Amino acid sequence: MTAHDEYYKMLSPEFKYTRAFCTAEDVSMAESIRKFVNKEIMPRRQDLEGGWHRDEKLAIETQHELYAKLVGLGVTKSNLPTEYGGLGLSPVVRQMVNEEISRGDIGLGTLVGKIHWIVSFMVAAKRDDLLKEFAPRIIGEDSWTACVAITEPAGGANLEDPGQQFRTVRTIAKPDGDDYVINGHKIWPGPAGALGRFQSKDMKGHLGYWTVATTDPAKGEEGVALIHIPPDAKGMTFSNPYEKMGFCWSDENVEIYFDNVRVPKRYRIDTEPGQGANLVRGLVIGLGRLAGAARLVGLSQAVMEIVLNSAKHREIVGMPMRERSLFAMYLAEMYRYIDMARQYYLTTTWQVTHPELYGPPWSHEMVAKFSASRSFAGDCARYVCNTGMEMMGSYGYAYEFNLEKYMRDYKIVQMWLGGAHRDRLDIAQGLYGPFTWGGFDEWEKTQKLSK
Ligand SMILES: Cc1cc2nc3c(=O)[nH]c(=O)nc-3n(C[C@H](O)[C@H](O)[C@H](O)COP(=O)(O)OP(=O)(O)OC[C@H]3O[C@@H](n4cnc5c(N)ncnc54)[C@H](O)[C@@H]3O)c2cc1C
Repeated sequence: MTAHDEYYKMLSPEFKYTRAFCTAEDVSMAESIRKFVNKEIMPRRQDLEGGWHRDEKLAIETQHELYAKLVGLGVTKSNLPTEYGGLGLSPVVRQMVNEEISRGDIGLGTLVGKIHWIVSFMVAAKRDDLLKEFAPRIIGEDSWTACVAITEPAGGANLEDPGQQFRTVRTIAKPDGDDYVINGHKIWPGPAGALGRFQSKDMKGHLGYWTVATTDPAKGEEGVALIHIPPDAKGMTFSNPYEKMGFCWSDENVEIYFDNVRVPKRYRIDTEPGQGANLVRGLVIGLGRLAGAARLVGLSQAVMEIVLNSAKHREIVGMPMRERSLFAMYLAEMYRYIDMARQYYLTTTWQVTHPELYGPPWSHEMVAKFSASRSFAGDCARYVCNTGMEMMGSYGYAYEFNLEKYMRDYKIVQMWLGGAHRDRLDIAQGLYGPFTWGGFDEWEKTQKLSK
């Protein structure tokens, strides 16, 4: 028996997903994903990194194959409205799907989440034309991936800081006839790169780059644009992928250079003044953080299951470790963190479905709640990974038992989209802000704005 065959009622979809927020059908969808994860992903977690020797071919093949199976289950079309052929499921289900897949592998959870993410931008901006354009690929049998490009060399957290009002963005989109001409430089977006990286027997291709740009940095929020750039756009070049601690091939992160990249104006997702800033603050950053919370909870549960199993078999003076009070207390503490983080992200997600009561996702109050969800789930994952590894000793540190991979992976989900520090500041912004930084205008005068 592996750790994941063992049944813990309190960790089952039936018990853990509060029915105040979801239906019985939603729970059965989560249950079917849990079974898929146990059967298909759990035994291949190491292959997703190409095994101990990091075989790139094995890693990419495994990732594409498992992703294709998830696409076959319908998870990538879950939030696409039914009129476009999607399942039209609520954001709560999208989060439960996120949690269940990330229990197996948070990289695969993130890959599925990229499609949810780009769909949410086009739905929020009511872009019927673009939804019609992309839907056939999203609902079809083939698998496609997509990327959201935000971070720039001036600092990811600057762009994600509402106090800086997007004035540090240096990816410039200049209107020219029926097109925008884009120049700039993004760092870290993923999955990104040459088309061939995303073409295999199990992966059809890349849907392109939903890119945060500005028509003029001096315009601040008014200048912000969210623009779709096709994956084969002329003038776009990529660096080699970054080498990093986790997410080895599940999120290939590169630098993108835009050199007079021309895209039709209709690829600008926002259509009204100020809508670009709202989409970036509320959906790109805000909902991105909320999705991260669900993924971190799924990852934490996986680690706890590994530790529960280990502590069942490791004996201390003739008794299972988990029946000794010190260690029972640690396991209870892990559960407390995980379930609190889960109930919190579920409550916040449910609030997203009621903007008439709580405001739109770009309000400072809702961004604060997204940030609280993600930062608490990040604290949870840190506690569970760290304490779990201490309880397992050397076995926790060993590659064979998978805990070390989860530990490497959780860290970036806590740090991306502005990270744990920005999360705290955004909570303060919601509570008593918004506030801007003193001295910004003086600083800006010293900067050369790209033309
Ligand atoms: C695996 C991986 C995947 C990624 N995927 C993507 C992607 O798909 N698209 C994309 O655009 N980017 C992506 N990123 C980039 C990531 O989102 C950024 O790295 C992140 O937002 C932080 O930006 P930075 O690294 O530039 O850090 P910095 O902005 O230099 O910040 C460094 C530290 O200082 C803190 N900090 C800085 N300024 C402030 C402030 N004003 N208030 C509070 N704290 C502050 C930050 O919290 C951070 O801890 C990815 C990165 C990795 C490693």
